[in-house]
Amino acid sequence: MVHAIVSAGFHLMGSPAFRIYGRGRRENTWREISVFATHRRDLQSRWPAPLFRGTCITWTTSVIAVGWDFATQVIREQYRCPVSRDHPLQVSGGRVRDSQRRKEAGGQNYPSASEILAHEIGHTWQARRLSLLYWPIGAAFTLCREGDHWYNWFENQASEEGLFGGIVCGSVCSQLRRELPGGTNQ
Ligand SMILES: [Zn+2]
Repeated sequence: MVHAIVSAGFHLMGSPAFRIYGRGRRENTWREISVFATHRRDLQSRWPAPLFRGTCITWTTSVIAVGWDFATQVIREQYRCPVSRDHPLQVSGGRVRDSQRRKEAGGQNYPSASEILAHEIGHTWQARRLSLLYWPIGAAFTLCREGDHWYNWFENQASEEGLFGGIVCGSVCSQLRRELPGGTNQ
């Protein structure tokens, strides 16, 4: 309920850059998630890392905030090689930062933007399970990143759970559509 209210607040403040289908591995149904873009989160932003510059953050069960540069990268990747609810994308090896584990799973050393989005979708699944506790737990454990220690569970779980089922048809904003070859519609 509170997540729904907070999500509605984001939509009052602006329009999403695009919407996506996402779910956790243990969920049966796909959910629509709004991806909001802001220049504060661009790699070149003057806002401080790790809270702003170059970071994505999952605010609620249905709201993810990213930089415009990241949003553009996702749209380009999905234009070249789209995923779908029938063929969703997961984080290679269940880790965005463990290159050895990623390689063993047949992935690239570094995650694509779409894989990072799958990780964020894993956080939306956690937000559904944890409800109000999601915010304090997320604040406490996000900066611990992935790893082999007990306190890495939050980030590990997001990478293991998130499934990205593609971009919702017709949801890409005009600014991002212009980034595609020929300015075509998604
Ligand atoms: Zn995370």
